Amino acid sequence: MLTESEPIKKNIVLVGGGHSHVHVLKRYGMHPQPGIRLTLISKDILIPYSGMVPGLISQTYKYSEGHIDLRRLASFANARLIHSSATQLDLLQKLVHVAERPPVKYDLLSLDIGSTPAVPSVSGAEHALPVKPLDKFLTEQEKIREEVINKKNTYNIVIIGGGAGGVELSLSLDQQLRRNNALLQKNPNHLTITIIESKSTLLPDFNSAARKKLLKNITKRKIISLTKSRVDIINSNSVKLNTGEVLAADKTILVTNAQPPNWLLNTGLALDNNGFVRIDDFLRSISHPEVYATGDIASMENYDLPKSGVYAVRQGPVLAENLRRVFIGKNPKPYRPQKQSLALITTGDNGAVAARGSLAVSGKWVWRWKDKIDRRWISNYQTLPEMTGHKNASNDISDIEKMRCGGCGAKVPASILNRALERIPIQKKEGLAQGIDAPDDAAVIIPPSDKALIQTVDQFRSFTDDPYLFAKIAANHCLGDIFAMGAEPHSALAAIILPHDSEEIIAEDLYQLLSGATETLTEAGAVLAGGHTGEGAELAFGLTVNGYADPKKLLRKSGLKPDDTLILTKPLGTGVLFAADMQAKARADWIDSAFTSMLRSVGPCIPILQKYCASACTDVTGFGLMGHLIEMLSASNVIASINLKSLPLLSGAQELSLLGFESSLKQPNENSTKNNYQAIEHSTYPLIFDPQTAGGLLFGVPEQNAEQCIEELHKSTAPDATIIGSVSNNSASTSLVNFI
Ligand SMILES: Cc1cc2nc3c(=O)[nH]c(=O)nc-3n(C[C@H](O)[C@H](O)[C@H](O)COP(=O)(O)OP(=O)(O)OC[C@H]3O[C@@H](n4cnc5c(N)ncnc54)[C@H](O)[C@@H]3O)c2cc1C
Repeated sequence: MLTESEPIKKNIVLVGGGHSHVHVLKRYGMHPQPGIRLTLISKDILIPYSGMVPGLISQTYKYSEGHIDLRRLASFANARLIHSSATQLDLLQKLVHVAERPPVKYDLLSLDIGSTPAVPSVSGAEHALPVKPLDKFLTEQEKIREEVINKKNTYNIVIIGGGAGGVELSLSLDQQLRRNNALLQKNPNHLTITIIESKSTLLPDFNSAARKKLLKNITKRKIISLTKSRVDIINSNSVKLNTGEVLAADKTILVTNAQPPNWLLNTGLALDNNGFVRIDDFLRSISHPEVYATGDIASMENYDLPKSGVYAVRQGPVLAENLRRVFIGKNPKPYRPQKQSLALITTGDNGAVAARGSLAVSGKWVWRWKDKIDRRWISNYQTLPEMTGHKNASNDISDIEKMRCGGCGAKVPASILNRALERIPIQKKEGLAQGIDAPDDAAVIIPPSDKALIQTVDQFRSFTDDPYLFAKIAANHCLGDIFAMGAEPHSALAAIILPHDSEEIIAEDLYQLLSGATETLTEAGAVLAGGHTGEGAELAFGLTVNGYADPKKLLRKSGLKPDDTLILTKPLGTGVLFAADMQAKARADWIDSAFTSMLRSVGPCIPILQKYCASACTDVTGFGLMGHLIEMLSASNVIASINLKSLPLLSGAQELSLLGFESSLKQPNENSTKNNYQAIEHSTYPLIFDPQTAGGLLFGVPEQNAEQCIEELHKSTAPDATIIGSVSNNSASTSLVNFI
């Protein structure tokens, strides 16, 4: 996380978490480069290592053994992670367009986005399953296993492509499907795998000794190979070949030649005949030297390299060095691929064949050798040194840093503010007589005469380096108080602190931040009416939100009634997850699902609460479930029973809590509520004190309405809404909360 104030001057944007980029991240984590902001835009956050792909398919490796957690690695590198896809480049403005979010500015750009199997231009190609993206394939593979077991007669798999990938896939898949499968052990012919290859042999690019050894394995496993054959038509349960032959195919899998994504075609980058980015020996685009490309997506002008992970791996250190050298004004270094590379092909049964030049060896020892190489490589990116939390190592105080003013002098200059504001949509709303478009000193709001004005304010430090995502979540959090009162958001004033960086960087961060905030406000029916932007040590954002409500219909904390059922609309655990994330100890997919939950607005829940006669409501935020519940119970003069087993939890929250991770606010939350209940030993108990960011609504409804209310909430924006307990009269108990 960016917490220190070394100014950022240049943006290096990495697109794709391929094998070269993981090295760049590790390198910048180990040797930070002052003044550089590294941003990684990646479609995936858990990425497979190519060398272990066959082992992942044959399930020789567990998922976690063969994948790299990009979130952890990016965090180690102090890189900003944007979990999304690049969709287009604006090479003139130096912008990367990203799916469903504002474009990202770069000074240097690097593409390591891999390739996917080419989809043959034949009718019915949509029926085929490409082997990449691998995660999608692994999910489908589980289904194939079940389909094989459930099919009454023979299950037929057709693999299109007989290169190394197709051969490795057929062997690994055969191994995985037959392992521990009583049906296939009894009747081996219940499964057939056929490889279709257009050339005269499988593995046409391999030396004859290696080919012979691998074909022996194909024959041993009774995998059928049809060479000099092309698929003409793909149907949902068959394929037709150019020879006229029709093969039954319950599953057709593509392991064809590597293909680049189509979006590169319109970027203006120089591409080769197949659409790959043409690069020079320094790994730079031949048309745009500020753009680098490595791995499968790159096509070297002076070398004809096969699409194999080994090149992306070897290019990584050169790329990392060149990005650094160009930043400090030095000449980049050339990458020289090795003349002969070693190919290690697994045979699915813990054996492998090694090929180099005209030589080949095989056996279990080759697999053990390969396994050792692969495990050593991936552990470089899985096991990271303890993080110091330092943004960079320099003690240099640059010109930007010198003589920074405090007080009003710490305000972001109007020129920067205007540049950012010009890029966000115009903010107009009935009742907003004057907003950010007017030159005056304050917003002017004219409320309707029959409505009460509801106001709330919240602000916090960033828990992610991505200002767009942070502002979306922060805005959602701030809106929660307005919704919890049963009010409609109208407008908001922003309080923003941006770290001291170059003007370019501040303007861009401000734009990202305002884009996120205004998007969330717009979705909630509100507008940004004004605000204040200052510079400070770290990124912080808050909103004062104005809402309107019928004063007679306000939802308050004080209305809970005996026999009410208590419902919580979002899972708990953001505090513990981000506490662990600060130490790079939370899994990427856990943090990802926490973000998804935090981005869900509670707004659409309010009409449902009102329909089912909610008696009282609050949003669960900093004081944790317990703090907010006790406020409600005290104000309503009732007590509650909470079923700890039923509490909805975010993925990973319980595991991390059991490992001892907790937010710095957890203990104060527990201390301030402890006189109201008897503490108990339970695995979810610590999480009732966990502070929540953009947490869910906690409310009471009459018992008879609870099930239907939950059903409707699940269909709206609260798929995790859960009954967590009930309310009763407080006459008999000394505790406000009892745990069941
Ligand atoms: C079945 C099979 C087995 C293989 N076995 C081996 C092997 O044993 N050894 C070997 O060296 N090679 C092997 N390969 C080849 C190897 O997988 C690739 O050559 C290698 O993965 C390429 O690495 P890369 O860094 O170019 O990209 P990748 O490893 O493919 O990484 C690219 C990343 O970029 C992301 N991305 C793509 N588009 C975007 C976008 N628009 N925005 C953001 N992110 C994006 C992707 O999601 C992906 O995470 C195998 C291939 C197959 C199909």
